[in-house]
Amino acid sequence: MTSFFSAPRRLVWLLAMLFSLLAASPAQAQTDYTKTRYPVVLVHGLFGFDSFLGLDYFYGIPDGLRQGGAKVYVAQVSAANSTEVRGEQLLAQVRNILALTGAAKVNLIGHSHGGPTIRYVAGVAPQLVASATSIGGVNKGSTVADVLRGTVPPGTLSEVVVNNAAKAFVALINLGSGGTSLPQMPTAALDSLSTAGSLKFNTRFPQALPSGCGSGAELVNGVRYYSWTGVQAVTNIFDISDGSLGILSLVFGQANDGLVSACSSRLGTHLGDYRQNHLDEVNQVLGLRDWFSPDPVTLYRQHANRLKQAGL
Ligand code: CA
Repeated sequence: MTSFFSAPRRLVWLLAMLFSLLAASPAQAQTDYTKTRYPVVLVHGLFGFDSFLGLDYFYGIPDGLRQGGAKVYVAQVSAANSTEVRGEQLLAQVRNILALTGAAKVNLIGHSHGGPTIRYVAGVAPQLVASATSIGGVNKGSTVADVLRGTVPPGTLSEVVVNNAAKAFVALINLGSGGTSLPQMPTAALDSLSTAGSLKFNTRFPQALPSGCGSGAELVNGVRYYSWTGVQAVTNIFDISDGSLGILSLVFGQANDGLVSACSSRLGTHLGDYRQNHLDEVNQVLGLRDWFSPDPVTLYRQHANRLKQAGL
């Protein structure tokens, strides 16, 4: 703890706090700003675990949403497993939430592997889903998964880049080693997150995916689809996860957040590309991010307000 609160870090924290105070708009202070009609369900990605480094995976985000009146649930599915297994686990939890709250539908928000996971539920049970929002979602696969599964065409990347990427990925997973009693199958997760695995999944669940790198259809089978993502791998030198994300970003030949390309993230109406990396998207680690990027919590709050305005 002593080193964490060393002078430079304390300065960064003070500046970050000052920044967020200045950025808070009066509209967002309204007590019903995020009061959506349907409950919000947050769905984690591969680092899964319901927590990251013992912190909430969606750091400060459930509280930020609840402050404006939203009912928020944080789903817990297998950190590492296939999209279908995770999707079935989520579907069961959605049914429980509906029974608990008496609501007719939920607003699903998924990060990383949570993107395809919510698309699974929206695909098999659209009548239970008001909206599906994918943040840094692996909707068309990740080159990182391709590298780890050894499916990158020979000669595309140097051996050094591949080896460093594998090490950086393991370091990142170890950093977030939480753990749940749910079944874990890392190879199944990587197959789902690979480009080939994602394309196969998409033939069954094509809803709201754009053919290129723009926006897809917003409304499909009564479900509204949205996305946003980060496009900068290294954003804050004080964040212990940035080194790994920076190394991983080298396997992409295009804009990415360290784990997912900007184009793979698209779903429904694409709301924006931000100066955030894959972990900034869930306000990690401890809210450390690029000083000039929007506050991740604010983005979630603004989106809840968007859903509210749409009657969802
Ligand atoms: Ca960060």
